[in-house]
Amino acid sequence: MDPRTEKFMASIIARNPGETEFHQAVQEVADSLIPFIEENPKYKHAKILERIAEPERIIIFRIPWIDDKGDVQVNKGYRIEMNSAIGPYKGGIRFHPTVNLSILKFLAFEQVFKNSLTTLPLGGGKGGSDFDPKGKSDNEVMKFCQSFMTELYRHIGPDTDVPAGDIGVGGREVGFMFGQYKRLKNEFTGVFTGKGREWGGSLIRPEATGYGTVYFAQEMLKTQGDSLKGKSVSISGSGNVAQFATEKVLEMGGKVVTLSDSAGFIYDPNGIDMEKLDYVKELKNIKRGRISEYAEKFGVEYHEGKRPWIVKCDVALPCATQNEITEEDAQTLVKNGCRVISEGANMPSTPDAVEVYLNNRILYGPGKAANAGGVAVSGLEMTQNSMRLSWTREEVDEKLQRIMKSIHETCKKFGTESDGFINYLNGSNVGGFVKVADAMMAQGVV
Ligand code: NDP
Repeated sequence: MDPRTEKFMASIIARNPGETEFHQAVQEVADSLIPFIEENPKYKHAKILERIAEPERIIIFRIPWIDDKGDVQVNKGYRIEMNSAIGPYKGGIRFHPTVNLSILKFLAFEQVFKNSLTTLPLGGGKGGSDFDPKGKSDNEVMKFCQSFMTELYRHIGPDTDVPAGDIGVGGREVGFMFGQYKRLKNEFTGVFTGKGREWGGSLIRPEATGYGTVYFAQEMLKTQGDSLKGKSVSISGSGNVAQFATEKVLEMGGKVVTLSDSAGFIYDPNGIDMEKLDYVKELKNIKRGRISEYAEKFGVEYHEGKRPWIVKCDVALPCATQNEITEEDAQTLVKNGCRVISEGANMPSTPDAVEVYLNNRILYGPGKAANAGGVAVSGLEMTQNSMRLSWTREEVDEKLQRIMKSIHETCKKFGTESDGFINYLNGSNVGGFVKVADAMMAQGVV
């Protein structure tokens, strides 16, 4: 490690002990930024990197609720308000038993750079709870969401902090939280994105992260005169991002051969077509079942307890969770001929896996660039709410494509190396940093 990065990271680790995911996210950015900051000393003197790695505010609270048996349950709730230099805090809410301060701080930190890349006026934040929606009734999920919002409502607002969905938080949960916010504030405002169509949601928002990840992969392939047509694509996860990434790959003429959940993955060598995808949507969004049921229904292989990266593919789209591709997985992918990684999930590749991609000069689109389509359309939802109008599907999709292209251009501008190789990791980190850093400098030491 560069000794300057080592020194910086030592201070981050000392101030944030035990927060390994947060350290990982900060180090990845510091690796790209420290050489850039050395060349641009104004940022060094203003201690921008030190300030950007410290959340503006963290709220931690108790969430008591009563389950269907009448027993009292208690969960922990969080909102990390990371950076508001270029707009109100913006970032999703995650409900998953693994949620802790470290995971939410890493997500909020990444969000700052991602939101800046979208070109929209969005600051960075993230929140969530260790609540596990799996196996809970609709009534229990509603009780929990209402209790969560009974504390959170006083900290958020359409011009302050605008949450959205993430793992474990989809349309159902956003509805329950928005309903409780509205009741407590007696205001109908665009305080949440990912809302239902009938009550202020934007067309294309549910699709946006998955579609955007595929648009980004297509942009990367274009730099080599290639496209997704005819490519074999491995996707992990089977939730919101994975489903719509699959849909867009099919539309672009690719073949999706895997999907997964936390219990294992399915391998469908004939490809998951639109009809099978409809089955997955019904299975996951309505029945709330397991992906193993796909294997039973369509008579394909199910690999219990495994991740899909052992399958041969041209393109990999990790769309499940953080650190789901290890160094060994990355080596297997590259050995099997995978040439493109576009990250639908946040930080799905470990640092060693990223090194494998970069050493092998494959097209690697890091999450903060490749999955920014979700927050970009959230930004467009905020605009529509403020204007009190609603754009058509085509208008939103056209804007999403334009934004993904622009993010790709920014990565190219800041990440192209002397031999022409585009280091999207450096490009997205530096490209996302500059706007936020300049805004922070202009606003003084606050
Ligand atoms: P969902 O809850 O809809 O789906 C998550 C999927 O990932 C499920 O298939 C789930 O399986 C699987 N998964 C979750 N945790 C793990 C784990 N620890 N190990 C293995 N599999 C796991 O979430 P989303 O699709 O919304 O989010 C997926 C990723 O995309 C996350 O990293 C999220 O931060 C990122 N993202 C999402 C955005 C959005 O707009 N929704 C925007 C940008 C990024 P199971 O059902 O078994 O838990």
